[in-house]
Amino acid sequence: MADTTLMEKLVSLCKRRGFVFQSSEIYGGLGSVWDYGPLGVELKKNVKDRWWRAMVHARDDIEGLDAAILMHPRTWEASGHVAGFTDPLVDCKTCKARFRADKLQDAQCPQKPSKHPGEHSTCALTEPRMFNLMFKTFMGPVEEQAAVVYLRPETAQGIYVNYQNVLNSSRQRIPFGIAQIGKAFRNEITPGNFIFRTREFEQMEMQFFVKPGSDDEWFERWREWRMAWHHSIGLTPARLRWHQHGPGELAHYAKAAFDIEYEFPFGWNEIEGIHNRSDFDLGRHQEYSGKKLEYFDQASNERYLPFIVETSAGADRVTLTVLVNAYREEEVEGETRVVLSFHPSIAPIKAAVLPLVKKDGMPEVAERIYHDLKQQFTCFYDDSGAIGRRYRRMDEAGTPFCCTVDGDTLKDGTLTVRDRDAMSQVRVHQDQLSAYIRERIA
Ligand code: ATP
Repeated sequence: MADTTLMEKLVSLCKRRGFVFQSSEIYGGLGSVWDYGPLGVELKKNVKDRWWRAMVHARDDIEGLDAAILMHPRTWEASGHVAGFTDPLVDCKTCKARFRADKLQDAQCPQKPSKHPGEHSTCALTEPRMFNLMFKTFMGPVEEQAAVVYLRPETAQGIYVNYQNVLNSSRQRIPFGIAQIGKAFRNEITPGNFIFRTREFEQMEMQFFVKPGSDDEWFERWREWRMAWHHSIGLTPARLRWHQHGPGELAHYAKAAFDIEYEFPFGWNEIEGIHNRSDFDLGRHQEYSGKKLEYFDQASNERYLPFIVETSAGADRVTLTVLVNAYREEEVEGETRVVLSFHPSIAPIKAAVLPLVKKDGMPEVAERIYHDLKQQFTCFYDDSGAIGRRYRRMDEAGTPFCCTVDGDTLKDGTLTVRDRDAMSQVRVHQDQLSAYIRERIA
């Protein structure tokens, strides 16, 4: 299967089954903006819930935060975004298309798609000029320079400016972290690859505040934990790798940086960044706000600006990753079966309840079981069509278990439970059904 075909199939499956729709589609769509449908919203929510569970609920040393998207504009001067959050932009005078000058090798010439921009005889690229990626808007009724505010291009700054609030209102002492999930906006020059690079997206970021000198050690720990988390949501280890930023690649704030990359059909690409940000951020906010942000360490009787280890993943990008990782086509009895083999913990629907036939009292029993299971996890009831077709529909939605009520259920209370991946079936008593499923979806 050609790689582009796989992405096309995935995009079409996502639309057909209600994972992802193009934004404002009835008006022709809005470039690189996407909406999540009934299955997609569950999938992405499960990814975020798993992250929140691992980062906040399962630990004693991380607190959660939900900061606003709009922030004081000085924030973005202090962070370096006003001056430096730019990408080099080139225009083609012939076809009027725009490209990122540092990503020409990833782009296609609109006139000759087999070539990169600049390689076709009629291409006329301008010199690169720097383009700021922040979206601007105005606060209040007057559209003047003094009223400019930005849609945040990352969630991290909301954490830094609240670092003392969290410290003062919780029982935390350094080392500790603050985690946040929220929207971020970047006016990307060349968005694309479905929900991989969009202009509006969600980030799952955690900033860990440590004593200077212990940062290298914490950085290594966080690298290990974050890779383990990606394994825990079912991503294939062989399709994940580390990319270390070389000296020329390091962002202005970073002392060290590693990306976790995934092997997408369009190549290896970043899904999460882990950065040692030193004391850059708190140092700059201290300077720009005039507020002391030092930490007093009672144990050592020292005052210092904490160093920060950051883990930053895109919720949409990880959602695309689990979709790509789960997509499988198989030949079964002369037909192609499409399966989304999600890790059960992130599957949008955990179980389907299906009466084998729509008579003989089976729908009544199945409905009762469905209403009972529904109190505990996401379930789907389906009594229309041949049972094989109903199984296929659930395979495409990535539902790990199909529970079928048949003639024997009425006699002895057992159902068949079909496993999505192996397609094997076992009989489970209806009283044990929820425990059986719960054990397998954790
Ligand atoms: P890239 O090099 O892909 O532009 P980046 O290095 O600018 O990414 P960071 O600023 O480190 O990315 O952001 C952290 C994470 O946020 C990324 O690993 C990615 O998962 C997500 N992310 C960043 N930009 C986008 C985007 N335009 N669309 C979707 N997710 C994004």
